[in-house]
Amino acid sequence: MTQLYKAALVWFTRDLRLHDNPMLEKAHANAASVLHAVFIQDLLRPSSMPGIGKISTKRKDFLIQALLDLSVALKKYGHTLCIIDGSSTENIPYLIAEYDIEAVYASQLSGFYEDKQWGQLVSAYPYLDVYHCSTATLYQQNDLPFALVDLPDNFTAFRKLIEKQPIAVRRALPTKTPVILTAKPITPSSNITLLSEATQTSAIFVGGETSAIIHLKQYFTSQSASTYKQTRNDLQGFNASTKFSPWLAQGSLSAVHIYHYLKAYEARVGKNESTYWVFFELLWREFFFWTAKKQGHSLFTKRGRKKMGPLTSFYPERFRAWCSGETPWPIVNAGMKELVETGFLSNRARQIVASCFVNELELDWRYGAAFFEQHLLDYDVASNWGNWQYLAGVGADPRGKRHFDLAKQTKQFDPNEDYINRWDANKAVLSIDSRDAADWPIS
Ligand SMILES: Cc1cc2nc3c(=O)[nH]c(=O)nc-3n(C[C@H](O)[C@H](O)[C@H](O)COP(=O)(O)OP(=O)(O)OC[C@H]3O[C@@H](n4cnc5c(N)ncnc54)[C@H](O)[C@@H]3O)c2cc1C
Repeated sequence: MTQLYKAALVWFTRDLRLHDNPMLEKAHANAASVLHAVFIQDLLRPSSMPGIGKISTKRKDFLIQALLDLSVALKKYGHTLCIIDGSSTENIPYLIAEYDIEAVYASQLSGFYEDKQWGQLVSAYPYLDVYHCSTATLYQQNDLPFALVDLPDNFTAFRKLIEKQPIAVRRALPTKTPVILTAKPITPSSNITLLSEATQTSAIFVGGETSAIIHLKQYFTSQSASTYKQTRNDLQGFNASTKFSPWLAQGSLSAVHIYHYLKAYEARVGKNESTYWVFFELLWREFFFWTAKKQGHSLFTKRGRKKMGPLTSFYPERFRAWCSGETPWPIVNAGMKELVETGFLSNRARQIVASCFVNELELDWRYGAAFFEQHLLDYDVASNWGNWQYLAGVGADPRGKRHFDLAKQTKQFDPNEDYINRWDANKAVLSIDSRDAADWPIS
């Protein structure tokens, strides 16, 4: 193996795993006499939307669990993961200078701001070798049968192009690759604040690669994938849908790895419409990832891709009622209570509460998206903001805004009100507003 660099940096972001990790494979192949592994987390800063606080304790703890799990896994290969509590804009330049870094390895992310940050790094350090690796998606950008600028604007067109001449999903990289030749921990200094440990565990999900792989194996050992299409819209039931999203979002689980487990399941148990549908949903994730990259900053603007923005205003009282599950609609209240309590919500419940936010409450969709960002364990910039835009009618849906009939949804998906009762959400709230709306935005 040729040694390319004296010192290199592996910058973990949303790729917190050793299995199927192209970034680690690349770092391993190039080799360096000293290699530093680092994760910098800027998550604790408040949201850019006024009135929305820092990420929830549950989401933060889920991330810390993943980081601790990764630290333990790396230690087996002699590495120390340095977890820095601070901003990457400040810490990466500091590390490059302090440790004479010649190469940086990182994952390609979907977010506009992450892309911008990467671009700034590349232009600020022309002598540095930088490797942007594709760790999040099934396909790499070069695999797509179109240039990013020509990415179709709606999902169906995207899916048809992908499926027309099926593109092979790359093989999953082995888990037990000895990752890096030599490792050296970054020493904490006055410039570096290390992150403290998790304090609380989510009752349903434990962050990290170890739990992710256990869950993946359990899911495909059960027969759930064979009935997925019939159950995926259920509001409750752990195996009603795959529950891969929290681990996918932190990169503790690879989409490519899931794909190959799915194929193995089909070979063993049999293919049907349901097993295909698991792949179909992974394509939605793929679609939103590439859409976010194409869309750039407009993923976060009120008008999104459209010329006209939705006619919404801001009513602080309505917003508060939605966040705390105190609207006149029990099904919405149950969803919001579940979200805040567990950090998770089924896809159907997400659609219901988001539709209510946009249509009944006539609120600016970006505040709903920001509240989801604060609470969802599976928060993913592309999937979250992309789905919200879709529902608000300013994104990837050619049919315009989606309005779910809340009474019909309740009848169809919670006929006995089990879900509503489970979240003690049956209290009658008679009206949306107790008085005239106050001014918005809060500053
Ligand atoms: C308003 C709104 C906000 C959302 N925010 C997020 C988010 O921040 N992060 C996130 O991962 N998903 C988000 N979704 C998509 C979807 O609700 C979740 O991915 C899904 O509910 C997660 O549960 P699961 O893993 O059991 O999904 P399954 O139904 O089992 O699907 C399998 C996988 O396919 C992908 N997937 C399924 N549906 C979608 C979809 N509509 N868009 C993108 N990917 C999808 C996910 O990776 C999921 O893990 C959002 C949906 C809505 C309506």
